[in-house]
Amino acid sequence: MTEAVLKSGNPAVAQPTPIPLRELMPWIIFGGLLLLLAIYFVGAEEGATSLVPGMYVHEFVHDGRHLLGFPCH
Ligand SMILES: [Zn+2]
Repeated sequence: MTEAVLKSGNPAVAQPTPIPLRELMPWIIFGGLLLLLAIYFVGAEEGATSLVPGMYVHEFVHDGRHLLGFPCH
Protein backbone atom coordinates (compact mmCIF):
# COMPACT_ATOMS: atom_id res chain seq x y z
CA MET A 1 0.00 0.00 0.00
CA THR A 2 2.87 2.38 0.84
CA GLU A 3 4.56 1.67 -2.48
CA ALA A 4 1.35 2.42 -4.29
CA VAL A 5 1.15 5.81 -2.60
CA LEU A 6 4.83 6.58 -3.29
CA LYS A 7 4.58 5.59 -6.95
CA SER A 8 1.45 7.65 -7.44
CA GLY A 9 3.50 10.84 -7.42
CA ASN A 10 1.12 12.61 -5.09
CA PRO A 11 2.89 15.85 -4.08
CA ALA A 12 1.08 15.86 -0.74
CA VAL A 13 2.98 12.74 0.33
CA ALA A 14 6.28 13.55 2.00
CA GLN A 15 9.22 11.75 0.43
CA PRO A 16 12.16 10.66 2.59
CA THR A 17 15.42 12.32 1.66
CA PRO A 18 18.42 10.01 1.49
CA ILE A 19 21.39 10.85 3.71
CA PRO A 20 24.68 10.72 1.82
CA LEU A 21 27.25 8.26 3.14
CA ARG A 22 29.80 11.10 3.28
CA GLU A 23 27.70 12.83 5.95
CA LEU A 24 27.05 9.62 7.87
CA MET A 25 30.64 8.38 7.97
CA PRO A 26 31.88 10.56 10.91
CA TRP A 27 28.94 9.39 13.02
CA ILE A 28 29.53 5.77 12.05
CA ILE A 29 33.19 6.09 13.09
CA PHE A 30 32.23 7.86 16.33
CA GLY A 31 29.68 5.16 17.16
CA GLY A 32 32.22 2.45 16.38
CA LEU A 33 34.74 4.03 18.74
CA LEU A 34 32.11 4.23 21.48
CA LEU A 35 31.30 0.55 20.94
CA LEU A 36 34.99 -0.37 21.11
CA LEU A 37 35.30 1.60 24.36
CA ALA A 38 32.25 -0.20 25.76
CA ILE A 39 33.68 -3.59 24.76
CA TYR A 40 36.96 -2.64 26.44
CA PHE A 41 35.25 -1.72 29.71
CA VAL A 42 33.07 -4.83 29.66
CA GLY A 43 35.70 -7.28 28.51
CA ALA A 44 39.17 -6.12 29.42
CA GLU A 45 38.88 -3.68 32.31
CA GLU A 46 40.35 -6.10 34.80
CA GLY A 47 43.75 -7.05 36.15
CA ALA A 48 46.80 -5.96 34.13
CA THR A 49 44.73 -4.06 31.54
CA SER A 50 42.76 -2.12 34.14
CA LEU A 51 42.72 1.67 33.77
CA VAL A 52 40.57 2.36 36.83
CA PRO A 53 41.98 1.08 40.12
CA GLY A 54 39.75 -1.16 42.17
CA MET A 55 36.87 -3.38 41.14
CA TYR A 56 34.24 -0.67 40.60
CA VAL A 57 34.09 -0.93 36.81
CA HIS A 58 34.26 -4.71 36.91
CA GLU A 59 31.39 -4.96 39.34
CA PHE A 60 29.37 -2.38 37.39
CA VAL A 61 29.60 -4.36 34.12
CA HIS A 62 29.72 -7.80 35.73
CA ASP A 63 26.36 -9.01 34.38
CA GLY A 64 27.30 -7.74 30.94
CA ARG A 65 30.51 -9.77 31.06
CA HIS A 66 28.59 -12.95 31.71
CA LEU A 67 25.94 -12.07 29.14
CA LEU A 68 28.57 -11.58 26.42
CA GLY A 69 30.59 -14.66 27.42
CA PHE A 70 33.76 -13.00 28.67
CA PRO A 71 35.66 -15.15 31.17
CA CYS A 72 35.26 -13.84 34.67
CA HIS A 73 35.48 -16.22 37.60
ZN1 LIG B 1 31.60 -13.06 37.03
